[in-house]
Amino acid sequence: MSLFLSKDEEAFKTKARNFAEDHVIPQANEVEAGKYPRELIRDMGRENLLGAPFSKSDGGQGLGWVSEVIVAEEISAANAATEMSRAASTTLYAAPLAYFGNNQQKKDFLRPVLTGESIGALALTEPLAGSDAAGIRTTVAQRGDSYVLNGEKRFITNGGLADQYFLFAITDRKKGGRRGMSAFLVPRESSGVKVVKAYSLLGMRGANVAHIRFRNVKLPPENLVGRKNQGFDILLDELDRERPVVSAEMLGIARAAYEAALEYSNKREQFGRPIREFQAISFRIADMAVKLEASRLLILNSGRLLDMGRSIRKAGAIAKVYATEASFEVANSALQVHGGIGYTRDTPVERYFRDARFMMIGGGTSDIMRHIIQREAYRDLESRSKARKQVMIR
Ligand SMILES: Cc1cc2nc3c(=O)[nH]c(=O)nc-3n(C[C@H](O)[C@H](O)[C@H](O)COP(=O)(O)OP(=O)(O)OC[C@H]3O[C@@H](n4cnc5c(N)ncnc54)[C@H](O)[C@@H]3O)c2cc1C
Repeated sequence: MSLFLSKDEEAFKTKARNFAEDHVIPQANEVEAGKYPRELIRDMGRENLLGAPFSKSDGGQGLGWVSEVIVAEEISAANAATEMSRAASTTLYAAPLAYFGNNQQKKDFLRPVLTGESIGALALTEPLAGSDAAGIRTTVAQRGDSYVLNGEKRFITNGGLADQYFLFAITDRKKGGRRGMSAFLVPRESSGVKVVKAYSLLGMRGANVAHIRFRNVKLPPENLVGRKNQGFDILLDELDRERPVVSAEMLGIARAAYEAALEYSNKREQFGRPIREFQAISFRIADMAVKLEASRLLILNSGRLLDMGRSIRKAGAIAKVYATEASFEVANSALQVHGGIGYTRDTPVERYFRDARFMMIGGGTSDIMRHIIQREAYRDLESRSKARKQVMIR
């Protein structure tokens, strides 16, 4: 039992864990061999494991963001690529639509994703703009009543097979990315959309991560989400919500790696005794346990703050930089505890190691997280000193 989870959240955790053990683990090898987990996502929809944070009236579960991080950890502990595919659709794509879409857009484009019938993807990154999200070059121009989209997006999770993209593009070049960006819904079947390639990845091998080209793609006016030129605000809100969830994915990998190392070190014998009796091993296990616990608390803190309607710009970046780096360190330690067998594909530990590397890059790199944390820290300092000055003036 956790002090931090309500009874409903505990029940949701049990349901997610049971699903992961009964359905995701048995299919993990197939997914790793490249089979996109579409059927699994559909099954998650049937089990009400999609849409935890969104209101019931929008087709969600009305449980909140803490529940979303719970499901992310549980599915990822079973197979991180399956979880990455789920979250790209039902967190990254769904969140900005749930918070900024109108009722018709939610009915047509959000509900089917939350049942798992349809798959979404978030299309931001481009060949010439990654960390510098405001520097995107993809444009949407108004032509009479409709819009015309041109540009390229790369590294788009679910990109090759999503039914629709939640896409960011420049609608006013003069205003630049921060004030001239807008958000659009783009069906993949639209004329002029071409999936150029799916990347071969170091880890997360069951995920579909694609490069997509858009040439004169016509979009009806009703596919604009939010107001024209509101895109950058929508994007910042999405990134804040995404960060605890992707951090929880890395926590899931770390937990699986830790549990494997714990068991292996208990039964593997060298020099006539279990290797756990060597302090080099058992202290490594202790350090792994510390990192897991700290990651989980930071992630739950961000989820809870989101549920309270508070800003998590700094808390989310702290959770992400810590949990993603800790996950890689834990996976690396687990591999070391396994010795030679850890370096083979006879155990899933090498997969944990490859998968855990991803989120120091995706969703904003560790460097960008540190940039956000220091910026917010100095902003806090400035507002504290302003408040002190005002008290002195009074
Ligand atoms: C498997 C995978 C899946 C992805 N899925 C999606 C998706 O679904 N949708 C989507 O839109 N994008 C997605 N991405 C893109 C991902 O978010 C970007 O790769 C990431 O934001 C970094 O951008 P970049 O790769 O262009 O690197 P760059 O921005 O070119 O960075 C290169 C290096 O420079 C550093 N750097 C850059 N700017 C600064 C700075 N100001 N200060 C310090 N260091 C800096 C970075 O930290 C990094 O080390 C995915 C990427 C991968 C690999």
